[in-house]
Amino acid sequence: MNVRLLVLGGLLAAGAATAGPIHAYGGTNDLARISVTVVYFLPRDRPPVPDWRDRIGFAMRRVAAFHEREFSGLSVLDARMPGEPLVSELTADKVREGDATAMFERMAAEARHRLGWPGARDGSFPVLLLFSDQNHRELDDFTRTRIEDGVPVHEGHVGPDGRHHPGAKSGGSRARMDPRSGGGIALVTADGWRVPYEGSDCVAYHEGLGHTLGLPHPEPADRSVMSTAQYHMPIHRSWINADQKQGMGWAPAAAPPPSNTLFGAFHARHEPAEPRTGEPVRLDLSWPEGARVARITTATQTALFGPWHEAVLRPPEGTPPAFVALGAFSGATPVSWRIRVELADGRREELWGYFQAADPASRSFWYDYRFEPAGKRIWRAAGPDLWTELDPTGRLKVFRIAARDSDVGGARGTLATELPGRHMEVFIPDRGARPGHLLFRLTGEKDWKALGEIHDFPR
Ligand SMILES: [Zn+2]
Repeated sequence: MNVRLLVLGGLLAAGAATAGPIHAYGGTNDLARISVTVVYFLPRDRPPVPDWRDRIGFAMRRVAAFHEREFSGLSVLDARMPGEPLVSELTADKVREGDATAMFERMAAEARHRLGWPGARDGSFPVLLLFSDQNHRELDDFTRTRIEDGVPVHEGHVGPDGRHHPGAKSGGSRARMDPRSGGGIALVTADGWRVPYEGSDCVAYHEGLGHTLGLPHPEPADRSVMSTAQYHMPIHRSWINADQKQGMGWAPAAAPPPSNTLFGAFHARHEPAEPRTGEPVRLDLSWPEGARVARITTATQTALFGPWHEAVLRPPEGTPPAFVALGAFSGATPVSWRIRVELADGRREELWGYFQAADPASRSFWYDYRFEPAGKRIWRAAGPDLWTELDPTGRLKVFRIAARDSDVGGARGTLATELPGRHMEVFIPDRGARPGHLLFRLTGEKDWKALGEIHDFPR
């Protein structure tokens, strides 16, 4: 099989660190060099993601740069990836049979057998790292949607400011040390890498490397990579706790080793966190002191199998810009973005992110109606003045908006009356309002009654 070395970059100036050797956490395995066999695991009934090499390469560069920084260059990665996906003999449904651990062991056994892993040993610590195309349960990872009881529901972690981070119940990433090879085996499922969010690189390290080296979850939980970093930040802003590293033979250096990369020194973040349709989106950038910029390439994508729309910028005099524009999106859509920067001194860095451009006028939701005809009732904004309700029998009711920005019981929302008789009035709380219940009252009544809890459709 054609195997390529993933170029991970010369990361730290050698010789700056003290102490060593680094060994597995709770073990004696030498970690001076970690040989990672990186595999794109593809069920035989699925098409490969067109730019899977870019996506896995990005995840691996982040993992390697973080690891070398955290261990002061005393433990380094040598990652190799076959030039083609490992096409499984099984379909996605067969791969994911049973629980997520059964899926993991099935994939590990097939990859190990097909690749002859770990092969000839050279004293390094072997890791078999699978990036799978599937999740344990079916999930559209670009829109972050799965179907539950016939309706689309959002699945994924969204922070309090509206930013998306990795974390899906349907995933199934896991890892373990492997006594047979004296190394480790890891799986990063599709939700952890196919569409990079802020924190996806933390998942790639946590599951793809950390647990294979024996690293446990710190107690109490914190924001380090072996804990909850994935929900808060990209990996260059996180860390491995010093007591865990000291348990692996690492000692803090008098001074941090000088870095010759942009890892941790360059940062990009989209603003606003939750853009609306038509609203300009930008990437706010931070640079190392004295940076001279040769080239900035930004790109956006609105479908996983769709094209990237690329823009190249050469700042006059190499002056680092405080932000770059990503443009505005006329329709509601998920957006992946990517930025590649190159400094005049040759240093490069790449970051990826994701957001959803939302159209406030195209909102839809459902609630469960308990009386006949019982079942899910689907509400949609229909033009500037109307809402419709579809019941399970196919009957459509139409409501005209009477007032926006109303306040009922402390929630903000919209008042609408049923056409044509206007005998019933409903209150639709705004997206995100609490309590999130659809309310109604008959004409002339004062008090509101709840029809049911609102479940917004994914945007
Ligand atoms: Zn874990």
